[in-house]
Amino acid sequence: MNQFICTKCKATYSLDEPRWKCDCGSTLDIEFEAVFDLVKIRQRKPTMWRYREAIPIQNDANIVSFAEGFTPLTEVNFDGKPVLMKQDQLFSTGSYKDRGASVLISKVKELGIKEVVEDSSGNAGSAISAYCAKADIECNIFVPEDTAVAKVAQIQLYGAKLNKTPGTREDTAKAVLKVAERVYYASHSWNPFFFQGTKTFAFEICEQLGWQSPDTVILPVGNGTLLLGAYIGFKELRQAGIIAKIPKIIAVQSENCAPLYRAFRENLAEIPTINKKETLAEGIAIAEPIRGKQIVATVKQSQGSFIAVSEPEIKESLKETCQKGYYIEPTAAATIAGIKKYLPQSNSAEVIVSVFTGHGLKTTEKMLKLLNY
Ligand SMILES: *Cc1c(COP(=O)(O)O)cnc(C)c1O
Ligand SMILES: [Zn+2]
Repeated sequence: MNQFICTKCKATYSLDEPRWKCDCGSTLDIEFEAVFDLVKIRQRKPTMWRYREAIPIQNDANIVSFAEGFTPLTEVNFDGKPVLMKQDQLFSTGSYKDRGASVLISKVKELGIKEVVEDSSGNAGSAISAYCAKADIECNIFVPEDTAVAKVAQIQLYGAKLNKTPGTREDTAKAVLKVAERVYYASHSWNPFFFQGTKTFAFEICEQLGWQSPDTVILPVGNGTLLLGAYIGFKELRQAGIIAKIPKIIAVQSENCAPLYRAFRENLAEIPTINKKETLAEGIAIAEPIRGKQIVATVKQSQGSFIAVSEPEIKESLKETCQKGYYIEPTAAATIAGIKKYLPQSNSAEVIVSVFTGHGLKTTEKMLKLLNY
């Protein structure tokens, strides 16, 4: 049965309803039986839509796509050990958020919705704006006032309406909820269709490994849009009998904003209120992640754990990665710092996959600061 299901009260709703949360106020997941026809998949173009029967969009005519996905899985050495890096900085808008935006905006088109609202620290807003531009859907993006200028420019040049909100990222999230009472909320953290796109990250990795799952995946986490999506993807592949096991998930947070790391380490029943400090990893600096408990439970279920990384570690990892020829944004470097912390405890046979989440060209001002300009 294809339907929405509430993560808390288990109420169900039809996927044909324009809804993004449960009547009880909690987040929704999607129950959907993903189908994989490996012969068909192999014959299709190298995009995330090659897994067509595993994505809950009914009519092909509604697919909004830039032929995105199937990004390279490239071996990169860190501290002398090989890690397979998914190059998701290479998406059209410069981050993996295109995976989620492609499916979510396809669903918006399928529902016949003409206007959406979204809030973001930049990358999700850029992705939603680009796909709305392609689908001719009116788009309103709320960002914190300190958002990176390149992301602000990108959102506006795609033709979206930009609303700079005073205060913190959390203030922006609160401001948008008011508007979401009357305009469809194309949220990357609330809307479960976004995760139906980010799950293709797992499909591609397994296909690129010859339909095998890796042992370990190391992923950044703020709202968990990549982490939860990846888990859905691995789970669906295992349910379909294509892979034997779900990899261990190592989740990386910035020490300066690490509520999930703390909840995991201290075995807390609730996500703690934290004192958020500024961090180079702006894209994962989420103090109140809406799916926080779900993320911690998912990492536990995968037999994984959390790692927190410091500002000097992020900075060094950023420089090191750029010096290998991969130009990534500081948020993406937090993941690299996490890899470097994880590797000493890995074994030599372990297949480890991680990701470059965002392109360096998105944050030129921060890059110049690193060079002391
Ligand atoms: C969105 C994003 C992440 C992951 O953030 P979540 O809040 O967990 O979805 C990581 N890196 C970059 C560059 C991002 O844009
Ligand atoms: Zn509910």
